[in-house]
Amino acid sequence: METILGNKDKNFQEILIERDVVDEIIQIARQSHPLEFVAMLEGKIKNGVLRIDGLVFSSGDRSNQGAVINTLMIPITTGTVGSVHSHPGPNATPSAADLQFFAKKGLFHIIIAEPYIEGSMIGYDTFGRVTSFKIV
Ligand SMILES: [Zn+2]
Repeated sequence: METILGNKDKNFQEILIERDVVDEIIQIARQSHPLEFVAMLEGKIKNGVLRIDGLVFSSGDRSNQGAVINTLMIPITTGTVGSVHSHPGPNATPSAADLQFFAKKGLFHIIIAEPYIEGSMIGYDTFGRVTSFKIV
């Protein structure tokens, strides 16, 4: 895997997501429905903890192309550590295209399915394995 964008230390045991970021994800997912949205997660790794503290989203980053993420429309910044996208419908399982994307970019990815609540957000690592996180 490539070194992601300013985060050379990729070792972490715990993932924390700030509540403001979660609220923003939920809000954008609801506003975008029935389209998908995709945004990048920003954060840092320190003392073995990946802390996600920001979201990079532009309102053009919505799609009705099913579960395909168009990587060209993703804004990459130096603090990017992963991605989040929505799945209209109840299924937060990554598609084949999602898995390819997870393997290429970032360290941690979220899919939020309907009904777009905290409990319908699932985190994944670069291999598409379910990965737990805490909201802080
Ligand atoms: Zn997807």
